[in-house]
Amino acid sequence: MTSAGRFAPSPSGELHVGNLRTAMLAWLFARSTGRAFLLRVEDLDRARAGAEAVQLRDLEAVGVTWDGGVVRQTGRAALYDSAIKQLSDAGLTYECFCTRREIQEAPSAPHAPQGAYPGTCRTLSTAEREIRRTTRPAAIRLRSETQEWTVEDQLHGAYTGIVDDFVLRRNDGVTAYNLAVVVDDAEQGIDQVVRGDDLLSSTPRQAYLASVLGLPVPEYAHVPLVVNHDGDRLAKRDGAVTLGDLAAVGLSAEEVRDMILESLELPMGPLGDAVDRFEPARLPLEPWVWTGRLQAMIRKGD
Ligand SMILES: [Zn+2]
Repeated sequence: MTSAGRFAPSPSGELHVGNLRTAMLAWLFARSTGRAFLLRVEDLDRARAGAEAVQLRDLEAVGVTWDGGVVRQTGRAALYDSAIKQLSDAGLTYECFCTRREIQEAPSAPHAPQGAYPGTCRTLSTAEREIRRTTRPAAIRLRSETQEWTVEDQLHGAYTGIVDDFVLRRNDGVTAYNLAVVVDDAEQGIDQVVRGDDLLSSTPRQAYLASVLGLPVPEYAHVPLVVNHDGDRLAKRDGAVTLGDLAAVGLSAEEVRDMILESLELPMGPLGDAVDRFEPARLPLEPWVWTGRLQAMIRKGD
């Protein structure tokens, strides 16, 4: 089996500097450990026409290259179906008919952690399920046998988080992210997952699911996000944040790449030149505050 890292963007729009920085980090983690690097487009949901091509172009422009072809989740339904069938055959799934509002308003089960699914549909009788099916399509949930799980993260150490009866397939038929990501990583031989630390809290669910499916659990590194001057996760509304926006204010892709490398305390220049200098233990762990246009002007004034 190959040993590989990956970047897995959702083609919902253009990548911003936060996404590009995470992609560069994932690439550096993989290349500095002799791994292949794969690109997977997570297009099950929120895909926007034309976005993927722009994302791939922008990744290449900052030096993020990948091995083999681009894998798209929409072509992999059979893999997800088969994983859900494996769980269902083992009695580890159930149908859930709850609306979002019902979940919010349900009294939480005793000892259930905050934010966990309260288990409303876990014990529905066959007759009750038949009645509910006539009014609303069911989502499929995992019948979890634990309430928490611990993962080991290269940057955060041991991290314990909630594992509830999370959704495997939504009631509109779309495979849930938590299932798809686990199946894809295992099937693609990805044994190193580097992504933004906003995803750390869902990682125990994924690692638990992998173990239930008998799949290997990858090693994880959840890297700090890029934030705006208010400390919020960077978004399109924060001004010039994509390569396209930044080109319009006079910053080339190479200059943006160099600003990102500088924020990582790595030498500026082609990404490949940073591989030998890259040490995960020395990564800054605080979010990088992006001041966008101001930063560009200061730089231009150097
Ligand atoms: Zn339910």
